[in-house]
Amino acid sequence: MTELIRLTAADLGAKLAAGEISAVEAAQAHLDRIAEVDGSLNAFLATDAEASLAAARSIDERRAAGEELGELAGVPVAIKDILVTTDMPTTAGSRILEGYQSPFDATSVAQARAAGLVNIGKTNMDEFAMGSSNETSAYGAVHNPWNLDRIPGGSGGGSAAAVAAFEAPLAFGSDTGGSIRQPAAFTGSVGFKGTYGSVSRYGAIAMASSLDQIGSCARTVLDTALLQDIISGHDAHDSTSLNHEWPSFAAAAREGASGAPLKGLRVGLVKQLMLDGAQEGAKARFEEAVAMLTAQGAEVVEIDTPHFEYAVAAYYLLHPAEASSNLAKFDSVRYGLRTGQGTVEDVMSATRAAGFGAEVKRRIILGTYALSAGYYDAYYGNAQKVRTLIQRDFAQAFEQVDVIASLTAPTTAWELGKKQDDPMAAYLNDATTIPANMAGIPGLSLPIGTAAEDGMPVGLQLMAPAYEDARLFRTGAAIEALITERDGTPFWASAPALGKATA
Ligand code: GLN
Repeated sequence: MTELIRLTAADLGAKLAAGEISAVEAAQAHLDRIAEVDGSLNAFLATDAEASLAAARSIDERRAAGEELGELAGVPVAIKDILVTTDMPTTAGSRILEGYQSPFDATSVAQARAAGLVNIGKTNMDEFAMGSSNETSAYGAVHNPWNLDRIPGGSGGGSAAAVAAFEAPLAFGSDTGGSIRQPAAFTGSVGFKGTYGSVSRYGAIAMASSLDQIGSCARTVLDTALLQDIISGHDAHDSTSLNHEWPSFAAAAREGASGAPLKGLRVGLVKQLMLDGAQEGAKARFEEAVAMLTAQGAEVVEIDTPHFEYAVAAYYLLHPAEASSNLAKFDSVRYGLRTGQGTVEDVMSATRAAGFGAEVKRRIILGTYALSAGYYDAYYGNAQKVRTLIQRDFAQAFEQVDVIASLTAPTTAWELGKKQDDPMAAYLNDATTIPANMAGIPGLSLPIGTAAEDGMPVGLQLMAPAYEDARLFRTGAAIEALITERDGTPFWASAPALGKATA
């Protein structure tokens, strides 16, 4: 069984298709692993063995009946608790939704089920996906499997930790300012967020609707591609959903693994993302990766994106502005928690005071202020202008290069508690991931090694123009193959064993 949990989603899918293992065995092995290690990780907010095993059993039955099933049929998937599901509760990491049971599945979840994936549990996250460390979750922090005293990143720390610790081969994430890519980098996993509008947001609890994007997290580039293939496409339930024919991302990743796409590839290094303050060990790994690319015939071009400097400031106005509007629906009447007594307003106010945590309240106050009469132009209006300038910076850059590479985050995962009293320090850590969200372009993070000073994983971020998502899978898989060749083993295989000894 231990061997089973170490299979990638692609390999697990192949063994399931070949009848070497059953979906029930796959689900059971991962449930056992969760039971074994999640006490030390806290990556899951909900599991339901009965529901997961029933779903797995039905896949086995359909296969036995001779039905043609998808490549990942029977593979377990962990679902970030921001996506509503009918088989398990959805809280978005907040008290205000404690015990909430959705009457419908998010579109991306329904697509995963239709492809035969088995929901193995709902993963922990920063409350309403606001945070970079997972410490704002109302249900306790998640621990990084590489070092239990460190954060796993956020907001999707539960998904990233689950994948890195072999609790699931595959997980859903959401990325508004980096919440898939940064936790992936911090846990040595792969994280992908596609072009804005490529994946349906229907049933994803909205935070900042103009930035939110659902995506995938796994241990390999191919596995993230396989999940993206399932969830990318038009959905009439989401007005921002793109009507676009996406090529096969898995085919792109498989092609990339041959290494061919690196020859002649123009790789942009953004001056503004070559952060002076970045951690030395992370920078060293990044420079090594760039040297590997040039050795393969890639051409490195330094590019200038002058407005990235304002990205964090603009994001932390746009985000709270949109989030404060989106969160108005938690009014004690329609969903979840209700507390207090007296008038409707009294109850609403008592419920929101009790149900929301400090970071959520901070953003509601900030966002409401930024949108208020007399301040709208100065704050929200100007932030929107910065957003346009960042989009233009990218457009210009992509006239010169095919992909942009940077560190996914300026540092590795920090110690639990370290930045909790200093929200600005955590916000600034998002400087590398936010620009892609502001421009709606795709981004991929993959592990390139560990930092010498702390032994924690370092992620490389790749970005491409909108609609060029496949290019990231091709390039990412090529780099991943080089890293595997260098280390003699896939990066994820070097993750600490965890298990009973460390629990
Ligand atoms: N860390 C960022 C924030 O707190 C990003 C969150 C996200 O992508 N969901 O807003």
